[in-house]
Amino acid sequence: MDISLFAPRHMDIGGGAASRIAAMLHRLGVSRPLIVTDPVMVSLGLIDRIRAPLDQAGIPHTIFSDTVPEPVDTVIEAGVRFAADLDIDCIIAFGGGSPIDTAKAINILRAAGQGARMRDFKVPHAADHAALPLIAIPTTAGTGSEATRFTVITDTGTDEKMLIAGLGALPVAAIVDFELSMSVPARTTADTGIDAFTHALEALVSRRANPISDGYARAALRLIGRNLRTVYREPDNRAARAAMMLGATLAGLAFSNASVALVHGMSRPIGAHFHVPHGLSNAMLLPAVTRYSLNAALPRYAEAARLAGFAPDTDADQLAGARLLEALETLNHDLAVPTPSAFGIARSDWDRTQPTMATQALASGSPANNPIIPDETQIMRIYAEIY
Ligand code: NAD
Repeated sequence: MDISLFAPRHMDIGGGAASRIAAMLHRLGVSRPLIVTDPVMVSLGLIDRIRAPLDQAGIPHTIFSDTVPEPVDTVIEAGVRFAADLDIDCIIAFGGGSPIDTAKAINILRAAGQGARMRDFKVPHAADHAALPLIAIPTTAGTGSEATRFTVITDTGTDEKMLIAGLGALPVAAIVDFELSMSVPARTTADTGIDAFTHALEALVSRRANPISDGYARAALRLIGRNLRTVYREPDNRAARAAMMLGATLAGLAFSNASVALVHGMSRPIGAHFHVPHGLSNAMLLPAVTRYSLNAALPRYAEAARLAGFAPDTDADQLAGARLLEALETLNHDLAVPTPSAFGIARSDWDRTQPTMATQALASGSPANNPIIPDETQIMRIYAEIY
């Protein structure tokens, strides 16, 4: 089996690791960072967890904080203009998946030079070149973007949530410090946690899984499956926050190497057209997509159920698979995941988009990694089922 492995060159993981940012820059041989973050990081003062040690080390830095949740191409272009005349030699991406993806996209577009647009890089084109070394520091335990070779940017002209993949989107280094996630509100804790769980599950059942991605996915399923409810109910539980943060990064490493599948393929059009946060649209889809796919990869789904603590080790595959379906429904209930209608999306809205939701889901390429590959009709049936 041929394996093509992607991972950051260095990762510093642990409570308080953000305070070692200056040492990380020193190790990488860079000293003039642009920090890309969001306004919440600035207003909460979380950004000071890296600004203070940078100041202490005498490292000058500039901040771009005009990023938005679920990033769009116009903000990326604004970021490239902001950075154009700065004397910088690296980018620090600080925040949830949105600012991290924004930083990656700025870095890719900056390397491409004048006249380039984000959509020039969407899959199946490769985004292999970045202007500067990028160090990612996540503040949510969710996307795993700190460890992936992806960035997801919405085209404001077409409302398409574009998947952009390549070495240019892979951070050179990451600092994974669960203490940065202690302040994440309950709703975002749930949404990002389900996102991470979905990454791990989809990586394990993906047609592109390999022994290395399997190792990451298994470790992630164990950590996330056993800590997601706890972290939602007990936001101050440091052990659970630490487990979720590590689990999310491991899940990122898993799907960066095995790819995601149908849940993510169907989730992106929901985000683009109806502005549902990424983790939430995954959560809405996860039980129905798993039900649709279960028998095509039953041993793998059953293994996931056991790893996540949803089924005892003694269960045969059939029973463990059934328990997985039940556990995913219960998880959504316990984490108060709304249905699309509760989110203000009418059933008929699914049919109105142009191109259709199913066409867009298939265009991303992710459904082709699913254990069973659906056609447009089957995809529309699953969308209808999640009400
Ligand atoms: P996010 O970055 O949009 O953050 C959600 C909200 O939580 C924001 O308001 C943010 O300010 C707030 N927040 C973040 N950290 C906080 C903290 N520590 N305390 C308090 N508030 C905090 O959400 P996300 O789910 O992390 O990222 C979603 C984006 O990531 C989407 O655009 C999605 O498509 C993308 N994504 C990328 C990859 C990848 O591999 N690149 C993978 C999955 C998802």
